[in-house]
Amino acid sequence: MVSIICIPLDENSSFLRGSAKAPPLILDAFRSDASNMYAENGFNCGDSGKVKNLGNLQLTAGKPAMDSIQKAVRKELNRNQKVVSLGGDHSITFPIIQAYSQSYPDLNILHIDAHPDLYDNFENNPYSHASPFARIMEKGLVNRLVQVGIRTLNDHQKEQVKQFGVEVIEMKDFDPTVSFQFGGPLYISIDMDALDPAFAPGVSHHEPGGLSTREVINIIHQLNGNVVGGDIVEYNPDRDINEMTAMVGSKLLKELIGKILK
Ligand code: MN
Ligand code: MN
Repeated sequence: MVSIICIPLDENSSFLRGSAKAPPLILDAFRSDASNMYAENGFNCGDSGKVKNLGNLQLTAGKPAMDSIQKAVRKELNRNQKVVSLGGDHSITFPIIQAYSQSYPDLNILHIDAHPDLYDNFENNPYSHASPFARIMEKGLVNRLVQVGIRTLNDHQKEQVKQFGVEVIEMKDFDPTVSFQFGGPLYISIDMDALDPAFAPGVSHHEPGGLSTREVINIIHQLNGNVVGGDIVEYNPDRDINEMTAMVGSKLLKELIGKILK
């Protein structure tokens, strides 16, 4: 069973706020009569016995927000639920993984993003959305971190990649036919800016030359691994056109849930 947790937090964004407004809009698209609730593998995400929406977390600012996220996720994992979280900016993934690593000590992460989010220090905010995977790796919370879609590596982040042993498939080297192999439990973190802005304009950081919607879906479909949770982050409704990015987010939500439960 999957619990959907909505995390309206964008205070750790470095460039633009707005992603806090994302979760209800992704859910509106998810339930919209414009489509149906089926993932492409035939799983019905509208099965209320298997997919439960827990609604928006009530959050205060700063570290207490991080603690609340970790606690909410831990509560679901302790009830043997899988969790799919809707952000919010990418800072939410650190407290989510803190909870996950307790239930799944040999956890792997597949991180789909234009950015590696590995800054040691970004604007003196340890929780910056530019740093969650640095925090995860320095605490040794996961077995493997595999990043796909990356097209913004700078010298500092290259050093971080080396230091933490991150497996990076840069966009320039991406082969859409490859299927990723994971032994052990797998968490999938999807930053909407991994997609080319042509497919998903509703993000704070437009980074041209990205993945197509189909390529992200195929990555999910083709991978071998036991997917135990995931998140969809960085949708910024203020930058969207005709809710098209909300619809892409809701499509990925269906495919993610379908992969977890079927
Ligand atoms: Mn990110
Ligand atoms: Mn990004």
